[in-house]
Amino acid sequence: DLLFTEGRIDFKNVCFSYTPGKEILSDVSFSVMPGQTVALVGPSGSGKSTIIRLLFRFYDIRSGCILIDGQDISKVKQNSLRSYIGVVPQDTVLFNDNIRENIRYGRISASDQEVEEAAVAADIHDRILSLPDGYDSEVGERGLKLSGGEKQRVAIARTILKNPRIILLDEATSALDSQTERNIQLSLAKVCANHTTLVVAHRLSTIISSDQILVLHDGRIAEQGRHEEL
Ligand code: ATP
Ligand code: MG
Repeated sequence: DLLFTEGRIDFKNVCFSYTPGKEILSDVSFSVMPGQTVALVGPSGSGKSTIIRLLFRFYDIRSGCILIDGQDISKVKQNSLRSYIGVVPQDTVLFNDNIRENIRYGRISASDQEVEEAAVAADIHDRILSLPDGYDSEVGERGLKLSGGEKQRVAIARTILKNPRIILLDEATSALDSQTERNIQLSLAKVCANHTTLVVAHRLSTIISSDQILVLHDGRIAEQGRHEEL
């Protein structure tokens, strides 16, 4: 029902509460320009993941508006919106299916080879091959347990396959060893180049490499600027 083209994000005076009377976001305004990477930082509970959820339209806002490429997302079909945006959530939940299909979900028409290329780019291919059933390994609630970082890399592979114009990434808060962390950074740098990226950042390296930083405090933008300026 519409055409997204550039990958620009605008929040305009957004207010939001999950339950009446307890405001989570207060008058939040910011813009992410096409191709930029913006890091969202702030204390636990300040509303970072909420911003990601609102962009994907898990909830509707109370006042203000959220625009993508100048179009109010509340007036856009959820399917069109979600086909344009890739999300890597804070706690990735994989489907009760095998790893191959979990990655292919990013683009159902992808070939097995494309699935594996995405896994290589997300630095999870070798780990998958080390499993007894490889890409046929069942994951999710009933299947094998992957670590938080490994699951997030499966989600990154899915996003690489999807190749959306806008990427929303909610970095895992769980402690990762430094090698895993570096690998995730590298796979993200690959997928994020040429895309508009809004990343909830816990790692200093992510923050330093971003074009702009938004500091959230109690649901308000407290500071905004580049790393050198803050
Ligand atoms: P963290 O760094 O710990 O991930 P965050 O900045 O991502 O924190 P949010 O998840 O956006 O924080 O939550 C912001 C506030 O909204 C918190 O006070 C949280 O308790 C509340 N909240 C989050 N999800 C819900 C929900 N589904 N229903 C009610 N309140 C919620
Ligand atoms: Mg969060």
